[in-house]
Amino acid sequence: MEKRDLLYEGKGKRLYKTDDENLLISVFKDDLTAFNAQKTGSEEGKGALNCKISTQLFHLLEENGIKTHLVKTLDDSSQLVRRVDIIPLEVVVRNIATGSLTKRLGIEDGKKLPFSLVEFYYKDDSLNDPLVNDEHCLMMDLVKSESDLEELKRLGREINFILKSFFEKRGLNLVDFKVEFGTDKDNNILLSDEISPDSCRFWDIKTNKKLDKDRFRQGLGDVKVAYEEVLKRILEK
Ligand code: UDP
Repeated sequence: MEKRDLLYEGKGKRLYKTDDENLLISVFKDDLTAFNAQKTGSEEGKGALNCKISTQLFHLLEENGIKTHLVKTLDDSSQLVRRVDIIPLEVVVRNIATGSLTKRLGIEDGKKLPFSLVEFYYKDDSLNDPLVNDEHCLMMDLVKSESDLEELKRLGREINFILKSFFEKRGLNLVDFKVEFGTDKDNNILLSDEISPDSCRFWDIKTNKKLDKDRFRQGLGDVKVAYEEVLKRILEK
């Protein structure tokens, strides 16, 4: 597969065209950003760790019936993926209150939620990715139909169900996470982007130690050590 022009560069990845118009190469970067890129940094090897973690989790989800854009890994930090039109929504699923949820609603940090909460955020950096409801999504044509919105919620909950129990068995609480979806040329909704400690919160069940991007955001240090720990737990049989 030949890597051609850069198509898009995001905070965590670069997407390249290939000699097949339906396939792209996604290269995971070492860069870290927080608070809408007000805080930036880099951690050597983080891209490769996220690529490995995300690949493992996408395989797990595929095995459990979730369709994804992943075709195969190409090297330590790149994947071959199906080309999709990204739905401009961040689908966030939460099991425990923290982050923006506690700030917005005053819910106690660390409180277990009575059910898994699914939220939509409009992907627009210039607006700081605002929280939107179903009617905003329909009014702004962010999705094609109400049934696509229901499908995104169902997929978010299903992914949460699969990942939450997978991580519980490995001593980690999946506190919350963000996923993105895209549509392929046949209008299938595919899980896209990545699932990694950049986009999920993992707290150790015994110690409550944070093993995710909050170590960078909150200046706790040992970012790479934490990501390595997450990969180690994922690879445990
Ligand atoms: N998240 C993400 N990208 C974003 C915003 C949030 O991956 O641009 C993830 C974040 O890592 C967490 C979840 O979505 O796992 C919920 O984030 P929250 O709304 O609490 O915002 P934050 O406090 O992370 O700014």
